[in-house]
Amino acid sequence: MRLQAKIALITGGARGIGFAIATALARQGAVIAIADINPQGANAAAAKLREAGAQAHGFVVDVADPRSVETLLKDVTTQLGRLDILINNAGIGGNTPFLDITLENWNRTIAINLTGAFIVAQACARRMVAQGHGGKIINIASLSGQRGGNGRGAYGAAKAGLELLTKVMAVELSPHGINVNNIAPGAIETEMAATAHDAATRSAYNYLVPMVRYGTPEEIGDAAVFLCSDEARYVQGHTLNVDGGFRAAGLMFG
Ligand code: NAD
Repeated sequence: MRLQAKIALITGGARGIGFAIATALARQGAVIAIADINPQGANAAAAKLREAGAQAHGFVVDVADPRSVETLLKDVTTQLGRLDILINNAGIGGNTPFLDITLENWNRTIAINLTGAFIVAQACARRMVAQGHGGKIINIASLSGQRGGNGRGAYGAAKAGLELLTKVMAVELSPHGINVNNIAPGAIETEMAATAHDAATRSAYNYLVPMVRYGTPEEIGDAAVFLCSDEARYVQGHTLNVDGGFRAAGLMFG
């Protein structure tokens, strides 16, 4: 119970990596606020956690809309009292060749994956600073933000921006006792990966990743528990790659 009674907000927590992180934090005693653009999904996910004995609540948010984020923060802090942990996870996939990226596609990807992450992070950090007892912020970046993968122009640019923003946040929020770090997942078995990765990409990844398999959402949940725990109090502005050794091997795949 390393996170006993901590209040944790997870954006995009209705499914996939977000839900796995919510589950992992709940097992450590955290009170969970799942916020998602899909309200039924958020409520169903919270209900699943309650069935398992956790304290969990569902909320709706569109991270790309500052008013929606403000309403979320008001609702969470009114209902749950304060905010200790943000898992800034909501995002959309993207796999379009550079020459085919439309401005609409580019703007939508940046609006959710970078601007949306900024809006949520800033709103939560302001609450944490005002509360005056520190906090933990984890941004969910991606290996696609560290290398030039085929089709990852808009998605990778957004994630690279988020990784850099994390470093600035870590520097500026250190005096307030707030730890800000990234998790950069490799390929993880979720609906996003199922949509973005065709059969050729899957077999190329499995061939090139030293651990010869996709990761599971639960493996990202375990990494998040560490970064949210007191044991990680001196980890600041770091990107934790959770990728089965893919980045360490330094090989290319599409
Ligand atoms: P997913 O598509 O399974 O889940 C994403 C969740 O975010 C969904 O519940 C969706 O409803 C929600 N969401 C989408 N847009 C939103 C918005 N505007 N406001 C609020 N919620 C919104 O995806 P996932 O694979 O679980 O990915 C989660 C995060 O991990 C994303 O940021 C993604 O970029 C990142 N990531 C995933 C992988 C992977 O291989 N799956 C790899 C690296 C990084």
